[in-house]
Amino acid sequence: MRLVLLGPPGAGKGTQAQALAARWGIPQVASGDLLRAAVHEDSELGREAVGYMDRGQLVPDKLVLKMIAERLRKKDARDGFILDGFPRNVMQAEALAAGLERAGRKLDKVVAVMLPDEEVVKRISGRRTCRNCAAMYHVIFEPPAKAGVCDKCGEELYQREDDAEETVRERIKVYHATTRPLLDHYRRLGLLAQVDGEGRIDEVEKRILAAVTGDHDYD
Ligand SMILES: [Zn+2]
Repeated sequence: MRLVLLGPPGAGKGTQAQALAARWGIPQVASGDLLRAAVHEDSELGREAVGYMDRGQLVPDKLVLKMIAERLRKKDARDGFILDGFPRNVMQAEALAAGLERAGRKLDKVVAVMLPDEEVVKRISGRRTCRNCAAMYHVIFEPPAKAGVCDKCGEELYQREDDAEETVRERIKVYHATTRPLLDHYRRLGLLAQVDGEGRIDEVEKRILAAVTGDHDYD
């Protein structure tokens, strides 16, 4: 199974990718993780990426593509993979398809986990992080025993700048602007399945499985 998972921030894409990867015994390939690993390992690509990040710039497509291509060439990805957080735009999608084609492969499916904007705002702006141990909470879905205090270490919880409502609304705007053309692209190729991202994690997983396998026994 060669699958791309798309979805707005807060849609639980990473969690779903992880569960599906474990179920099928194939790797979850998350561009953010690859980037962090490259930086951590101080690889050539990692050092190049740090150069952009230090200047406050986005890591260019070309570099991200190189990391993805390198990862997909590894042995464990030979029989399949789940791409999470990539591609983000049509240009990346086309480069991905070209790279796969060179290896005699192609994508099987693209699943977009759909979530209303207001639900995204609610999910993300409610997140709280511990200043000390980085444990994560949610004021509605996973509140700490005592408001504003970490259950694990007793330190103060705060809202990351990325999670503030205004920032989230901006992230959603950017997400739609780049993702709409991407969804159209994959729809034209007959690869796209859209799945409702509301509800419990296991419910969403069942919907994804049904969409991917065409088998509704998961209902
Ligand atoms: Zn803590």
